[in-house]
Amino acid sequence: MLPEVAEALLNLSQLPKIKSGLAFLKEDNEYTTKEQVRLTEIAAPPFKEDERGSWFEKRFIELGLTDVGRDQEGNVFGTKPGTGTRRKIVVSSHLDTVFPEETNVQAVKKDGIIYAPGISDDGRGLAILLTLIRALNHADVVPDADILFVATVGEEGLGDLRGVKALFKERDDIDGFISIEPGTASEIIYSAAGSRRYRIQFNGPGGHSFVAFGTPSAVHALGRAIAAISDIAVSEEPKTTFTVGTVSGGTSINTIAEDAEMVLDMRSSSPEALLALEKNGRLNASGRPSMRKMSAGAVRQPFGPTLFKWATARPDRSRPLPPLFRPQPRRGAQVLGLVPTLEGASSTDSNVPISLGIPAVTLGGGGESGGIHTLNESFNPAGAYEGPQRIFLTMLALSGLAGGPAPLVL
Ligand SMILES: [Zn+2]
Repeated sequence: MLPEVAEALLNLSQLPKIKSGLAFLKEDNEYTTKEQVRLTEIAAPPFKEDERGSWFEKRFIELGLTDVGRDQEGNVFGTKPGTGTRRKIVVSSHLDTVFPEETNVQAVKKDGIIYAPGISDDGRGLAILLTLIRALNHADVVPDADILFVATVGEEGLGDLRGVKALFKERDDIDGFISIEPGTASEIIYSAAGSRRYRIQFNGPGGHSFVAFGTPSAVHALGRAIAAISDIAVSEEPKTTFTVGTVSGGTSINTIAEDAEMVLDMRSSSPEALLALEKNGRLNASGRPSMRKMSAGAVRQPFGPTLFKWATARPDRSRPLPPLFRPQPRRGAQVLGLVPTLEGASSTDSNVPISLGIPAVTLGGGGESGGIHTLNESFNPAGAYEGPQRIFLTMLALSGLAGGPAPLVL
């Protein structure tokens, strides 16, 4: 954290109204946890965030936000109006979970720890939006810039950031962005991991396994291709990764497969490294012949057309960040007794604003999260208020206050 940013946060935390807001957040910890459980128990599978979205819309209205509504994509938003300077910052969490519709999302409490799929990711972030609004109301804080609270859809997996992408497509008036994800109160993610995804399909003529032996098999070709991908060497720094996430194909045990498919996910905190990975892996569109060669060992005769389809691509430009978000951990000052931990690049809603050159960070929601993306996902709410407290300060440092201090986003 830059010294001037740390100083701004520190000064802010001394103001009577802000102190009252911070104290409120501590007192509100139990209620926030209750709401976190309540909203987690409204299932929100990918592409089916509607019910939880409606609940949120209602809560935003009850808490007195203005211009509450939903866009076509399903994002829910509401505004805490500022002084009319037309600056805007966004504070957001995502509505969707990774869990399919039939998942039991009822919470179970054991030894003070709450277990429920999605309780942390991003039940925590969503509950924090609500406690932040309550704290603003309680302490009668008027920000300088408008604060737009947004519950986004489609952050996870094949949702592919569709909510936040729609948000930035529809509007060009956002000056700063905070996304809340599970993590310790000191966690800051400030750079974006870009990702490329391919759906790669193999097709062949097919045939009876005994009678037509020798006919190229799409499944065998897929296997070869995956083996070749597994051998690609990637760098640790910048962190660059690949995974064949799912495979499918074939007709029956005694049929030479006509089709087979894999979904490949590649990520890196460096756009150059990501492109290099595509090139080394011969995975871009112009690499078709190479992929065919790569898989040719699996077949005895020329192989039918290999289709490369872009599944999706997340934004992958990590532009230089504005000074506010240029991290300098060693010179870091403590704010609220927390030393910021700077996390490596990750793929969150902040990717989109970062790729557009808009200041954006992803902050940890506090408490202790475990088993994220598993059925055993858990959350320990003890002392969790440190998360919202720090986000409250960061949010108000960005937005500024009516009558000063001025917003850090310009
Ligand atoms: Zn998340």
